[in-house]
Amino acid sequence: MIRVRVRAVRSGFLAMRLACLPVKRYTNKQSVCFMGGCGDMQAQGGCQCGAVRFSVDGPVHFSAVCHCPSCRKSAGAPLVGWAMFDTAALTVDRPAVSVHASSPGVRRSFCGTCGTTLFFEADYMPGLVDITTESFDNPDDVRPTDQIWTRHETACVRALAGMPRHESLPPQA
Ligand SMILES: [Zn+2]
Ligand SMILES: [Zn+2]
Repeated sequence: MIRVRVRAVRSGFLAMRLACLPVKRYTNKQSVCFMGGCGDMQAQGGCQCGAVRFSVDGPVHFSAVCHCPSCRKSAGAPLVGWAMFDTAALTVDRPAVSVHASSPGVRRSFCGTCGTTLFFEADYMPGLVDITTESFDNPDDVRPTDQIWTRHETACVRALAGMPRHESLPPQA
């Protein structure tokens, strides 16, 4: 198995920084407390098809769901959850990763095979990487605590609480 430290390939296809999170909250590099504990965490994740696997070993600085149009479009979803780590805390195995510059200085990475949205980096956030919470094997480990860019909240998300709920598929006619 190929193991590539993201820092080691910064000049290559995997150089990226997260973009959407509020700068004030993370520039001090203070960790957020999750699940009753603070400090480093170890966790694994990957894309849907398994071509990309990753692990993290370090503090979660911030975790939030983002309503911004860029995140929504990149994932094809009404919300995207992000957990922020030091770039050095992320190790990517089998880096079948493709990168898309969604705006100047911003790099979004996804599996080149199945398209799962994985990482987000931006020039204005040096040394930090956002990882999609749902790409973790246990997303609750990095459960978002905040919502960001709520000015872009969609009608779908606003209506969620009142929608009929079905445990699986809706009843057949
Ligand atoms: Zn994949
Ligand atoms: Zn966003």
